[in-house]
Amino acid sequence: MRQPVRSRLPTASGKTTFRLLMEKVVIIGTGCAGLTAALYTARANLQPLVLTGTQPGGLLTTTSIVENFPGFPEGVDGYELMTRMQKQAERFGARVKFGTVEAADFSRQPFVLTVDDEPIQTQTVIIATGASHRHLGLESEANLENKGVTYCATCDGALPMFRNQPLVVVGGGDSACEEALYLTRFGSVVHLIHRRDALRASKIMAERTLSTPKIKPIWDSVVTEVLDVKQDKVTGVRLKNLRSNAESVVDCAGMFVAIGHAPNTQLFKGAIEMDASGYIIPKRGTMANVPGVFVAGDCSDHVYRQAVTAAGMGCAAAIDAERYLAALNE
Ligand code: NAP
Repeated sequence: MRQPVRSRLPTASGKTTFRLLMEKVVIIGTGCAGLTAALYTARANLQPLVLTGTQPGGLLTTTSIVENFPGFPEGVDGYELMTRMQKQAERFGARVKFGTVEAADFSRQPFVLTVDDEPIQTQTVIIATGASHRHLGLESEANLENKGVTYCATCDGALPMFRNQPLVVVGGGDSACEEALYLTRFGSVVHLIHRRDALRASKIMAERTLSTPKIKPIWDSVVTEVLDVKQDKVTGVRLKNLRSNAESVVDCAGMFVAIGHAPNTQLFKGAIEMDASGYIIPKRGTMANVPGVFVAGDCSDHVYRQAVTAAGMGCAAAIDAERYLAALNE
């Protein structure tokens, strides 16, 4: 097998730096998919370089208890699970580096990723960049972000501004239910605003949510404005009932938006094929349309989107990358 060599590489700033000239595997993302790919490629002795992006550990670090990851009958804290996954991968030689990919050139081998202004050459890439919280898209929502508008109850729910105050959660999926349940610890009441009259969430979550007295569902309704931009803080939300068109205002100190996710793939637009929503669709196994580029987890999956399916895809991508490298370097 061709061995990576050390050499001088020019950086964008004109300086030169000594680094491994060619990586065998670079994994972009450290959620369940990325860290499982890291574990498997590390155990295959490929010394993967694993780039964290801006959210080390991925979205799971923002959830509270994960109850459906096999092997944890009492549930496991999301942050702890990801920390353990990283340690497990590092134990076998994965190198986790805090860094964000700014550009990706897949037009020739080796591929070149630009990370914090420095080029990294690599024979394979596993894209495991996950997905981010979707926004409602309201101007008032953007103006009041972090001033009462938030996308993560676990991160922000305990803030003094939300204590013993009425709160609002928008959405009808598992995330919205989870956020609403979590927020009952802090808020005086939690209004769950959903655009339909039935939750999308799994049966167990939906039942738990609707049987919690502190959670008050508001059906068939959407938020049309977050109040009050003039006061520079959230004081309420203006709602529209989609059946009657009636408008109303619900007083609240915080709006927690949990309406799903969008794949973090903008960086690869034009470099790799994706569907209209930005999900990278693998062509053969986990390989994208460019040979040597593999994909795993929520950035390529809008169907299952579970921690355990992401981990499974990360495993598959690692095995595919390993076999591809074996053939390439024969
Ligand atoms: P999701 O299942 O896609 O649900 C998104 C919800 O937001 C839906 O109810 C949707 O309404 C609503 N919505 C979407 N766009 C909207 C808009 N512009 N305005 C108002 N409402 C909007 O997303 P998720 O809840 O984040 O869950 C994602 C995946 O993770 C799912 O597979 C879920 O099972 C999983 N998950 C599991 C757990 C758990 O098991 N503990 C926890 C969190 C997430 P409609 O229903 O009308 O489409």
